[in-house]
Amino acid sequence: MEFDVAILGAGAAGLMAAAWLNEHSRLSVCVIEGNTKPGAKVRISGGGKCNLTNTQVSERNYLGDAKLVREVFRCFDRDALLQFVKERGCEKLELRKGRYYFCPRSAQQMIDLLLHSANKSRFLFGQNIKAVVQNNEGFRVETDKETVTAGNVIVATGGISYASVGASDIGLKIAESFGIETVPFSPALAGLTLQKDQFWMKALSGISFPVAIRVGDKRLREEMLFAHRGISGPVVLSASLYWEKGMIEVDFLDGQNVGELVKRGGNKKLSTALPLPKRFILLFLAQLGVEDKPCSAFSTDEKKVLYRFSTYRFAPAGTFGFTKAEVSKGGVSTDALQSCCCEAKKSKGLYFVGEVVNVTGELGGYNFQWAFSSAVSAAVNIMKFKGAL
Ligand SMILES: Cc1cc2nc3c(=O)[nH]c(=O)nc-3n(C[C@H](O)[C@H](O)[C@H](O)COP(=O)(O)OP(=O)(O)OC[C@H]3O[C@@H](n4cnc5c(N)ncnc54)[C@H](O)[C@@H]3O)c2cc1C
Repeated sequence: MEFDVAILGAGAAGLMAAAWLNEHSRLSVCVIEGNTKPGAKVRISGGGKCNLTNTQVSERNYLGDAKLVREVFRCFDRDALLQFVKERGCEKLELRKGRYYFCPRSAQQMIDLLLHSANKSRFLFGQNIKAVVQNNEGFRVETDKETVTAGNVIVATGGISYASVGASDIGLKIAESFGIETVPFSPALAGLTLQKDQFWMKALSGISFPVAIRVGDKRLREEMLFAHRGISGPVVLSASLYWEKGMIEVDFLDGQNVGELVKRGGNKKLSTALPLPKRFILLFLAQLGVEDKPCSAFSTDEKKVLYRFSTYRFAPAGTFGFTKAEVSKGGVSTDALQSCCCEAKKSKGLYFVGEVVNVTGELGGYNFQWAFSSAVSAAVNIMKFKGAL
């Protein structure tokens, strides 16, 4: 079978690339997918409602090549994505916490919308992609069932987290077979496990409240959840993206000044004066070796110790691993890609888009935004090159 474009993977990026090519060109497109249905990760994303983007999106929300992210967003940004879903009949998106955009009914809406736009593509489901080889005419994609030839190939095979829904590292293997550098995948947007000194947190399993976490030069603010295995919740998931074996600093008071709170507390006990769950305060005070008592009774030295409510530093042991990680960081090196369109510098006509690229977003719709934007940037470039625009 011969096509102008072969798209590898019918996930978020692959479906968007097919949709864009079908709607804007007459190029023949096939989409090859290992699962028997498209969009497995989209379906389970955002608690089943797909958090597709965010009110604030910039390269600062990503780990990876800022220039490339900026250029890709220049081609298709947050507003373009919102417009895209609106024009294709999706009712008003649900906006949570004033910043996260979700599908109003279910993630299936996003899959259906993309499939509808991509309905001129030939879908080859249940085919395991094995390799891509370049020859004079273009590319040969080998699956466990057949061989497809195409003038252009868009690799959109994602990362390796949540392997249960069909993830694989074939994207990296394809890149390496073309001599393209890759960075090994590691789990990101995952909870963090604890070292012995922080095991006290395990007793708080189920409690959550907003905190700020400093990791490297990033300061992230959102809910933290104490879990049986360690710490989790949106802020910890985003922190895991930037965390590289080392210290993080938690401000349990999320920017509020502990000195002020103690001063205002007067004769109230600290455990009622601080705006935090009492169980947490009592356990944390025990760790600090400070007694719970009226705020006015703390000595100057004790008050200094209380500042650790805002500056608690520790080194997590690791992450919850690939089975729980929402994404894989690492991937195809961005140095090997054209920054406007994610085409491999070494092989014209070969593109890498979505999570397989070494660009990873924070929690909050950033990874779908990247998947959709990078897919459009590749599709637009193929159309330009083919004179199909
Ligand atoms: C539980 C969970 C919740 C998430 N929630 C959100 C969210 O709300 N917002 C957000 O922005 N991000 C979320 N993400 C991350 C988001 O799903 C991914 O970043 C995004 O799907 C990446 O898109 P992609 O197209 O690059 O890869 P994928 O969507 O993973 O698509 C890759 C496709 O390639 C196929 N494939 C892989 N290997 C082969 C092979 N060898 N042969 C054939 N086919 C193959 C896969 O089956 C898959 O269909 C979530 C992830 C998880 C796991």
